[in-house]
Amino acid sequence: MSTRLVFLGTGSGKPTPSRNVSSVGLFREGELFLFDCGEGTQTQMAKSSLRPGGLKAIFISHFHGDHVNGLPGLIGSLVLGNREEALTIVGPVGLKLWFTTLRKLHILWPSFHLNIIEIEESGVVYETEEYRVSTEHLNHRIKCWGYRFEEFDRPGRFDLEKAKALGIPAGPDFGRLQKGESITLANGNEVRPDDVLGLPRPGLSVAYCCDTIPCDGAANLARGVDLLIHESTYPGGEEKLAKKRGHSTSADAARCAKEAGAKKLVLTHLSQKHPNKSIFIQTSKSIFPNVIAAHDLMEIELERREEK
Ligand SMILES: [Zn+2]
Repeated sequence: MSTRLVFLGTGSGKPTPSRNVSSVGLFREGELFLFDCGEGTQTQMAKSSLRPGGLKAIFISHFHGDHVNGLPGLIGSLVLGNREEALTIVGPVGLKLWFTTLRKLHILWPSFHLNIIEIEESGVVYETEEYRVSTEHLNHRIKCWGYRFEEFDRPGRFDLEKAKALGIPAGPDFGRLQKGESITLANGNEVRPDDVLGLPRPGLSVAYCCDTIPCDGAANLARGVDLLIHESTYPGGEEKLAKKRGHSTSADAARCAKEAGAKKLVLTHLSQKHPNKSIFIQTSKSIFPNVIAAHDLMEIELERREEK
């Protein structure tokens, strides 16, 4: 089973013909999540392998236009598409006021329920039985939140041969062991889950840190992730300018990935002043070698590892 990341917009500030503004789609088992929704996100989605039908939730980092201006258009199109299912939108305080205003002005008239969650503090903002999304405060010019999508570990594989050898009768006892419960056989012997289960199978994790200067929040979100998506508005060497404007360089992003023990780094939110993305790689690879720079409509498949 895999999780697919689709980079819908990878530029900073304003869209150009080659780079749209920020949005990343995460597609997993028929469910779609968006991280940010810059202007033109729905058009980018139409060019990609993603379709809005499976959209469950949108996570907004902050209210700068290049991260949020695509929301009314996308939601308007969902209405025209006769969507009935509720949609969750998570973001900074002010989101409710924004949607109330859009409704009052008749810019939006959602035919479905908008479940709007305003983030007050770091923590879990979205959770199911299989995964959760948590948030931490980043350090930008205005209130800004990063996100971490994380599948829960699954129990190890059930070893049928071992179970038979131990004399466990097929039936409900199998299920109990798989849920982590010990059982007692008719002969009085106890069987523990470890006796019949392989090693736990770790879930995938992805962090999204955009926009920010290097900060603890980004480091916490990135801890041990399979994939870190980190803003890199400037190439390495431009740290002073980046910090002044509330952003990171590719070297900053690489340091974050290295210190957090991330497995792979994708640089995004690249300055439109640098159409040749090789400069972002050249200035980060020596710090963190497993780095790539995103381009619009780039896709990455993440496969779940089977054992720890
Ligand atoms: Zn931005």
